[in-house]
This record gives sequence, C-alpha cells and structure tokens, in this order.
Amino acid sequence: MIFFDNASTTKLCDEAVDSLIKYSVQKFYNPSSKYKEGVENFNAIQNVKKYICEILGVEFKNNIIFTGSATEASNLAIMGSVRSSFKKMLFSAGEHPSVYNTALNLKTKYPNLTIEFVNLQKNGEINYLELENLLKTGDVDFISIMHVSNETGAINNLERISQLRKKYAPNAILHIDGVQGFGKIPTNLQKLDIDFYTLSAHKLHGPKGLGALYCKNPSKLLPQIWGGGQEYNIRSGTENLASIMAFKSALDLIDTTSQTYERLKNFANIFKTNLRILVNKNQKLKFIENENLSPYIISLSVVGLKGETLLYMCDEKGLLISTGSACSSKKSGNRVLENMGYSKEEVEGSLRISFSIKTTLNEVNQGCEILANCINELYEKIKNKRR
Ligand code: PLP
Repeated sequence: MIFFDNASTTKLCDEAVDSLIKYSVQKFYNPSSKYKEGVENFNAIQNVKKYICEILGVEFKNNIIFTGSATEASNLAIMGSVRSSFKKMLFSAGEHPSVYNTALNLKTKYPNLTIEFVNLQKNGEINYLELENLLKTGDVDFISIMHVSNETGAINNLERISQLRKKYAPNAILHIDGVQGFGKIPTNLQKLDIDFYTLSAHKLHGPKGLGALYCKNPSKLLPQIWGGGQEYNIRSGTENLASIMAFKSALDLIDTTSQTYERLKNFANIFKTNLRILVNKNQKLKFIENENLSPYIISLSVVGLKGETLLYMCDEKGLLISTGSACSSKKSGNRVLENMGYSKEEVEGSLRISFSIKTTLNEVNQGCEILANCINELYEKIKNKRR
C-alpha cells in the first residue's frame, strides 16, 4: 500500500514506538513528582522543548507549551490572547478549521469585536495587499495566518507578513499555524518576530494527540484549562510524557536541510510531470501555479471528474490519497479552493497528494501510475456513457 495522505497524518516511526513504550512502562513517573525519577522525566521534557526551540531558531525561555493537539494549541493562542478591549482580529480565509472556526466562534463571546478574513490569491497565498489595507486601519489587535496551507501546500511569506505587522500594527499579536511547515520548511522565528507558532506531532511521524504552542511571551496568555499548574500555569494537566518523548524520537529523524527539501521537490516535480504524460491528453489537469509551494503537498484538480470517485478507485488499487484535508472531508465543497477562485467543477475534481520524509522515489513512480490509470479509466467510462 502506498500512503500519500501524510498531510492528514503520518505513521508513527519505530523510534517513537520504542519511546512510547519506554516512557509508559519503564519510565512512567509523573514529571511533577519530587523523587529523582520524576525530576528526570521533567528534565527530559525540558530537553524536548529546548530541541523544538532549536528547530524554530529561538532561544529556550520556558516558551513551549505542550497541548493535546495543534487544534488546542491554536485555540489557546487565540482564546488566551483575546481581550474585551480588542477591536479587530484578522484571519486568513485559508485557515484550517482549528483556527477558522475559532475565529467564527469569537463573535458569540465578543459581539463588538470585528473579525475580518484576508482572502487568498489564485496561487493559494494570502492577498498581501488586502492584509496591508486591513492593517492600515490601525485597529488590528491580532493576526492569525497559517505558514503552509494543508489544502494546497502554498507557503505564505512570513517575512512579508511580519514586516507589514511591524510597519502598520506593531502592537498586534501575530499567530502562525505552523503545523504543515514545522520540520519541513526552514523557519527562524527569532528573525520573524512571531508571537505564537502552533505545531503538531502526528504530521511528522510522531504520536497523535500531541500539539505544542511556541509563545514569545507566555505570561501574556490567559489559561484556558485550570488545574495543577503544569505548563507554566497556562495548560494544566499531567504532561503526556510518553507522547512528548516519542515526538522527540520522531524529531530526531527530521531534516530541514536543503538536501531533503530538494529531494522532496524533485519527487513533487516527477509526480506532476509523469502524471501529465500518463493521463489521457484530453483530460484537463489543473495544478496550482506558484513557485512557493511546499514540496510535501501536491494539490491538483482533475477537471470534469469527481475527486471522491478517484479517491475510492485509488484506494481499491492500494493508493491512499485525499480530496482535501481530512478535517473537512465530511463537508461538501472546499472553502479554501473556492476562495482561491476555483470553479465548482474544479473543486469537485480536486485531489491532494502528500508526501513525508519517508516517501521513496519508487512510491512516487508507482503512486503516479495508479492515479493516472484511475483517471484514464474514469475518463473512458464517462466518455462511453455520454455516447
Ligand atoms: N493546522 C493545520 C494546518 C493542519 O493541517 C492540522 C491537521 O490537519 C491542524 C492544524 C490540526 O492538527 P491536530 O490534529 O494536531 O489538532
């Protein structure tokens, strides 16, 4: 079986499995316990946080908060920052539901707050000019824009966003959902002066049910969960020690060097080129035109065919892909692609192929062939029906 739905989740790596067992069985001690076994586990967690800071290019200053998911981490950044004095909060229209739906929900608690969504360009990135105009109003207190789109792989220009914030709204808080970027796209949060950055363990061969929030200044966050005071009193609850240690083992495998990036980029190019060659030349394929795409995600539309039908056909032949993000697959349409200006037909034919660091060239070639065969088969079926 070929798994090309790594943007949805990834398989736990063997090293992470070993850590999960080790820290659930042999070293199961509560990190808050005073005896040395507990202290050792507390220190082990601190070291994982330091390592995450290293990857993010920031100094470790008790600024990583572990949560039960990236969804919870983004909720914490938004709900823990908002104040009744806030006038306006900006979100990109392409946000994952964990941010988008939180933004919509803010209105129920803060009816006087203005929530604005920055639209997307055709290439999947946010409309920077629109962001600039919204920031110029001078009322903006909070901005949340994702790093890499889980739907399209489009990489938003964080440097440009950070500069716009600095120029027009220096006091506005900047939150970035980094779930699809962390460990994949080299990032230096220090240079970017970002306030919050969300990440998730299960997108990088770590365990599900573990997220984290980088906070430049954690003391400004209001807790959303109260209890024993873990995670600097901001997110109480006994730490998910085994998952945190498993995440560290998974992080040991990641590699943000240009070599890995180029290898994945090459895979994405091979997949696109070969698909164009293998698919019936009368069948229109639409790829996003953008130089700034994550090589881990390929979004395409097989115009005129149903993406969902292709998904099931591929599944039968041993290739697992997606028609959009797993979190939105239960809903019809696609809010993100529609915002980019896709027609109904293009949205219906949309597919997402997503790789991981463990993807091989052999899988890329085989997966491409399976998808091309399914597209050609469905194309012929429909053509014959029309006759
Ligand atoms: N943000 C993005 C961009 C995602 O792709 C996902 C998962 O698909 C999430 C947030 C949610 O992550 P989690 O499953 O850890 O809540």
